[in-house]
Amino acid sequence: MKSESYEKKIDVSKIRDSFNIILMGDSSVGKTSILERYCNDIFKTEKKSKKTIEIFKKKVTFLDNSYQLKFWDTPNIMNNCNKSEKKMLSNCDGIIYVCSYDNSDSLKHINTWYQFLTQYIDLSTKEMILLINKKDLKEGEGKAITEEQIDKKSKDLQLEYYEISAKTGENVFDGIKIIIDKLIERCNDRSRGSNSDSINEQEKGGCNII
Ligand code: GDP
Ligand code: MG
Repeated sequence: MKSESYEKKIDVSKIRDSFNIILMGDSSVGKTSILERYCNDIFKTEKKSKKTIEIFKKKVTFLDNSYQLKFWDTPNIMNNCNKSEKKMLSNCDGIIYVCSYDNSDSLKHINTWYQFLTQYIDLSTKEMILLINKKDLKEGEGKAITEEQIDKKSKDLQLEYYEISAKTGENVFDGIKIIIDKLIERCNDRSRGSNSDSINEQEKGGCNII
């Protein structure tokens, strides 16, 4: 009896345990390398130029709950965004902007990617983060971005940022965890808002409602 009324309260049809996350950024900043490191724990030095969207999947467990993450590795869709790409954009839950230490334009272009997305998405409904890749590069190895420039960009666009290296793996898991935590928190907030009676049950069971 108890479980029946609980199911009615939380509307199980809306429970979700998967998130779609899109990576956006200039070519060669390391989007594919980040996903290969995060999902398969590998790093390849050669660049694969793909013209189509590639999907990477990973199942993760946070606080005893499992989530299926689906990452969309996008090629440059800015000049030619087709119908299925527009659909992918509108269905995403989170956006990871990526730039890299060896390319100062890639940091400047984060604004361009941001503006591009506003044509298709209400960004206030999405979780977003900025990753600065190639942290392993030292001064004299082509490092072209300063901490001040990153701080300014982060403040201007109100994007939390994290410096990572797909090559060494440094901070890749922690950086991506930031956006996953935000997505889970957002779902939990919504479920609390939609039904305050079930807060305790959800905190125990970790149900997430769209
Ligand atoms: P994408 O076009 O954004 O998908 O970039 P790729 O993942 O194809 O990477 C472009 C190039 O940068 C490749 O040669 C990678 O080996 C290299 N690369 C990617 N991540 C890193 C990193 O963290 N450090 C260094 N030093 N090189 C990287
Ligand atoms: Mg790529």
